[in-house]
Amino acid sequence: MPQPERQEPQFSADDALFGKPAFGKRIGAPAPLDVLKRVYGYSAFRGKQQQVVDHVVAGGDAVVLFPTGAGKSLCFQIPALCRDGIGIVVSPLIALMRDQVEAMKQLGIRAAALNSSLSREEASDVYRAISAGTLDLLYVTPERIATEGFCQMLGRAKISLFAIDEAHCVSQWGHDFRPEYRDLGKLAELFPGVPRIALTATADPHTREDIIERLALDDAAVFTTSFDRPNIAYEIVERDQPRQQLLRFLDGHRGDSGIVYCLSRAKVEDTAEWLNGQGIRALPYHAGMDRALRDANQDAFLKEEDLCLVATVAFGMGIDKPNVRYVAHLDLPGSVEAYYQETGRAGRDGLPSNVWMAYGMADVIQRRRMIDEGGASEEIKRVERAKLNALLAICETAGCRRQSILAHFGEAHGGGCGNCDTCLKPVETWDGTEAAIKALAAVYRTGERFGTGHVIDVLMGTVNEKTERFGHVDMPVFGAGKDIPARTWQSIFRQLLASGFLSVDHTAFGAMKLEEEARSVFKRDRQVFFRKDRPEAGRRGKKIGRSEKPAHGLAGEAQALFDALRAERTRIAKELGVPPYVVFPDTTLIAFATEQPKDHKALLGISGVGQSKLERYGDAFLAVISDFGGR
Ligand code: ADP
Ligand code: ZN
Repeated sequence: MPQPERQEPQFSADDALFGKPAFGKRIGAPAPLDVLKRVYGYSAFRGKQQQVVDHVVAGGDAVVLFPTGAGKSLCFQIPALCRDGIGIVVSPLIALMRDQVEAMKQLGIRAAALNSSLSREEASDVYRAISAGTLDLLYVTPERIATEGFCQMLGRAKISLFAIDEAHCVSQWGHDFRPEYRDLGKLAELFPGVPRIALTATADPHTREDIIERLALDDAAVFTTSFDRPNIAYEIVERDQPRQQLLRFLDGHRGDSGIVYCLSRAKVEDTAEWLNGQGIRALPYHAGMDRALRDANQDAFLKEEDLCLVATVAFGMGIDKPNVRYVAHLDLPGSVEAYYQETGRAGRDGLPSNVWMAYGMADVIQRRRMIDEGGASEEIKRVERAKLNALLAICETAGCRRQSILAHFGEAHGGGCGNCDTCLKPVETWDGTEAAIKALAAVYRTGERFGTGHVIDVLMGTVNEKTERFGHVDMPVFGAGKDIPARTWQSIFRQLLASGFLSVDHTAFGAMKLEEEARSVFKRDRQVFFRKDRPEAGRRGKKIGRSEKPAHGLAGEAQALFDALRAERTRIAKELGVPPYVVFPDTTLIAFATEQPKDHKALLGISGVGQSKLERYGDAFLAVISDFGGR
């Protein structure tokens, strides 16, 4: 990064890195770990962050597939600070760029955004800074990159790297497809030698392949970590009286920030209004609203601490509010990917958070109709149906929810997570080992080439064109499952898929394949239990996975100090017009409240306090702590 001749009057990352005490004179490029400590105030890299950073600093391309909250941002920000030139960050949402840039500035990083919301003068300021090389990071929309003029201008500047955030937008398989993302593939040719890093929290293998292909990242190193989010407690309930059920769930979250997802715009409006009537501060958000109002509601959600945002899926991408304490789904999402992405917005800060969903047969019928009546090709419809079934399987599983969710993403988890409803309140099951063997045998005998519909026909002994044509009517498994109704077989297959005994090959017409796990069932080394259909009533009461304590687990003195620190943070954030977490995240305030630092040195020892924030806010927070101590 930073050329010494850059003239930047304000505080910059240069100062944070090479300023006063610790570093003295600047020699060569800064080391990533020093940047992490001095700029961000973190003591160590997490997980594979360091590997990614080292790879990109050395000029390599990278694909980063980490779940939400894992810390993807540092994977491109730090290399951009360590390398010479401006880091270009492609980000899909203009409405969020301002906050992102503001967060960078608070860290002393010279960041700017270029998008259609800027005035002419603001835009020319940014252009000037690009030419002068006085920026560390520039956020732009994919549309901007697509324009020739902009690329020509970049061609004259020194670029440290390209970061393509929310890279799943390039894929049609995903749920946030943005056609302009496809143009980003040309960066490889236009800027040979400039490292490119694509990042997403989408775990779906199809989407991954698309990212690599569409963005011409064939030679990139791919970095993945576990997609588990241990701090998120999962709960899925059968719908009975949805509003009362929701209210009971929200009872444990009074005063918290959270999101309630609904399928339709009308339901969003109704639910928000109803929640307000119940004493829960709620605002609506959907694509049909007036833009200004929608942006205002999003802004309120980011800046305030106790707001419930009722939204359609139009809301959420790129939201990096770290203290979303809950996500509720009043309707079934369309796929496990969507469910995971939406619930993943909870607990980015790593503190305990709850996600909850109510589903019923009506959802299933509605979703199937949406697929059938949609304009997609037969192939896409088939994929959509399989995706829906995979989600239903997770709803119906008698086993650990976390285990079946992760199995969907090809990740093995031992189960018994202790932080989902089925682990905390086991469901009634029946021994389905014999049925499982029949089901798996039917998949195997028919050559692992068919979807559930046909395999169930075989088990039920249904004579039709297909079972005859393939000669399946003559097999021993034909009709072997007549004693169980077809509806139960569907549920059995969904559960076998959810538990990882079977997988679905979307590229082969949704054919089911046996997984390694199935072997032990065939050998009768293990029993398989299926969930019993439950009566609708009598499912109320006990809350799941939520202690009475607040997420941060503070009590007494520390809680009182935390509240005082929070008030100070709110004051500063209001003054600056930024979300409070841009000043400091909750995790840092919690450490202030428990460790009660008394001076700058002690403050710097706390995670989240870097050089720039120390200089900006250190004294204000020290004053709160010392007032508190002196009471
Ligand atoms: P993602 O983009 O993967 O969802 P973020 O980059 O927003 O995650 O990081 C999530 C939170 O974790 C942020 O508050 C970030 O500052 C923090 N964080 C990231 N890396 C580290 C680290 N090495 N040490 C401590 N906190 C970190
Ligand atoms: Zn569990």
